[in-house]
Amino acid sequence: MKPAIVTLGSHSALQIAKGAHDEGLHSIVVATPKQKSVYERFPFIDELIVIDNFADFPSLTDQLKKKHAIVIPHGSFVAYLGMEENLEMQLDYFGSKQVIVWEFDRLMQRKWIEEAGILVPKRFKVGEPIDRTVIVKTYGAAGGSGYFLARTQKDLEKNAVKIQNKEYLMQEYIIGVPMYVHYFYSPLTEKLEIMSIDRRYETNADGLGRLPIQHQDGVTEPSYTVVGNSSLVVRESLLVQFYDMGQKAVDYSKKHISKKGLFGPFCLEMVIDEQQRCFVIEISARIVAGTNLFIKGSPYSDLLYDEPMSTGRRIAREIRTAAEQKELHKVLHED
Ligand code: AMP
Ligand code: AMP
Repeated sequence: MKPAIVTLGSHSALQIAKGAHDEGLHSIVVATPKQKSVYERFPFIDELIVIDNFADFPSLTDQLKKKHAIVIPHGSFVAYLGMEENLEMQLDYFGSKQVIVWEFDRLMQRKWIEEAGILVPKRFKVGEPIDRTVIVKTYGAAGGSGYFLARTQKDLEKNAVKIQNKEYLMQEYIIGVPMYVHYFYSPLTEKLEIMSIDRRYETNADGLGRLPIQHQDGVTEPSYTVVGNSSLVVRESLLVQFYDMGQKAVDYSKKHISKKGLFGPFCLEMVIDEQQRCFVIEISARIVAGTNLFIKGSPYSDLLYDEPMSTGRRIAREIRTAAEQKELHKVLHED
């Protein structure tokens, strides 16, 4: 029997369901009553299951198992279901669950990127004197709205109340262009693909640049709430670094995180400075919402596939191919 795919109605569910349907797989979306009216509109969703709360998702386990459904995780899984529930989920799961644990913890994430040999912004330990502009990130600050910048020790003291009794990290603020590179690593072909690249529009950080400098004094700190994404193509010479960084993240995960390591879609969030150095500030070990721009593919996926290939469809293609080759085990989580 062909596998079905299932995901939660949020984040990148439309892309994932369309991709599955286009690949001939049965697509299931699980939505709450509030979102039902949106997901009903799209005929590529073969089945819509409505539950009161996303937290009730585990109650569907038996029903979904009978349909041979494979879970496709996205950004809302940990947010709405919680880490434990993700780890304990009894359904087939596309990806390695161990990587979520590393992704979730900022220090483990940093260890992963840094030890993999990828360039990261310099980190200042708590109490260590700063000698350049730093960004101070409190843990769990939604959309980066609790972050602030400091250039001197005095700036830090002025903002002390914002970090009082909170866990936070301080890192060098990189002046450059933020980019999100969307990768796909195939366990079947053992090849790394760049699917697309986006940049985010973050308010009010992107708005501040439109304000003449004489009006900026006294304006609030920048905040980084994502409100949109746009497509990017980069200088071709940067691709060498992009492939190299993605491969390093995969190789490290196979050695240090789990046997299968990081596979499927993932994203490196980076800022590129004037010397074209790429500083990675975050890794997302799953499909990111910026890929929603590319339902019909991107210039990069077009170079690899002569057909529209979104990241959602690429996931379904991997599952379909694995099923046809009787190698589904290669693309599913394993304890
Ligand atoms: P939502 O379903 O809009 O509440 O989003 C779920 C999660 O995905 C949140 O953590 C958002 O920050 C993130 N997210 C949603 N849309 C985007 C986007 N267009 N770009 C980047 N991240 C996003
Ligand atoms: P984060 O919560 O780490 O994803 O950061 C949110 C946003 O803050 C990013 O999308 C960047 O625009 C900005 N940012 C974070 N860290 C840095 C950094 N070290 N240098 C420059 N910008 C940063």
